[in-house]
Amino acid sequence: MDRGFLASLPKAVLHDHLDGGLRIDTMLELADDVGYTGLPATDPGELRRWFHQGESGSLETYLRAFDHTVAVMQTPEALSRIAYECLVDHAAQRVKYAEIRFAPALHTRRGLELEEIIEAVLDGMRRGRRDTGVEYGVIVDALRQDKDADPVARAAIRYLHDGVVAFDLSGPEKGYPPDTHLAECRLVREAGLGLTLHAGEGDGPQSIWRAYGRCHAQRIGHGVRIVEDTVMRNGEIVAFGQLARTIRDHRVPLEVCPTSNLHTGIAASAADHPLGALHRAGFVVTLNTDNRLMSDVTMTDEFAFAVDHHRFTVADLEQVTVAALDAGFGDWTVRRRIRDEVVRPAYRQALTAP
Ligand SMILES: [Zn+2]
Repeated sequence: MDRGFLASLPKAVLHDHLDGGLRIDTMLELADDVGYTGLPATDPGELRRWFHQGESGSLETYLRAFDHTVAVMQTPEALSRIAYECLVDHAAQRVKYAEIRFAPALHTRRGLELEEIIEAVLDGMRRGRRDTGVEYGVIVDALRQDKDADPVARAAIRYLHDGVVAFDLSGPEKGYPPDTHLAECRLVREAGLGLTLHAGEGDGPQSIWRAYGRCHAQRIGHGVRIVEDTVMRNGEIVAFGQLARTIRDHRVPLEVCPTSNLHTGIAASAADHPLGALHRAGFVVTLNTDNRLMSDVTMTDEFAFAVDHHRFTVADLEQVTVAALDAGFGDWTVRRRIRDEVVRPAYRQALTAP
């Protein structure tokens, strides 16, 4: 399948970090505006190369890049602009529905309140939808290593049905299992927000069990290390442990981010990634970008990854796209319309095209 064809297919993304998807030019302009002199380069080409050193294979190096993006995201104008450009850039890859996440607590360095930060992002998203037609939901993250998950969760709840659709825990997984913040997980669920938790990326199946069994997460961010609870033969899953079986049987969606996983060292090579095995074994797999800037990746690239390295067909791409729409936390009538009136017809046409 050629790239132009893959680019033309409608898409949905559930796992994409706002502070991991800035445009290089925007970062340079904003650094200038706010007087941030810490960027590793001032030349766009050089800065781009610095951010794309993701292949280093270490989560620590990867995470250091966020110091720079977050540094220029400390004013309402910057947050709104980056949120707007996020939807514009996804629209260029024919993304029709996007759930975008960010951690408001990272943007308080210049005195902004959590609510002002969330409102600035929602403002950019609204403008983005107006200009592109991309439907969105915002996911508010608390950082698992910090102690302010409670005020972050309460701030998120204030925007329920006003653009914020879910709560998440991000940050280092090892040493901070999901149920470190069990109280906040319960709080947001009782309030009616969706709950997705990063698990099974930096830590093994235990972390996924804690996210699902203890915190009652409805989706798992990454979750790919669920394969450690299976038996693989010739690249396919041939037997399931109890947890893997539960995750599959309960249809718990996995927000799989293949390229990001390569860059953080979860898989040694594209072919070694468990994407295809999980998909063929019946897990609810969705395809996602995670950090478009750091991984130098778009949704079209993730489609190409699945086709080139995991034998995905057009029908498989349709399946993961429909799975993402069905697993979304935003307005169901909107997601159903996109699924039935945009995605289904486009893939039907792609499948029958000569
Ligand atoms: Zn993530």
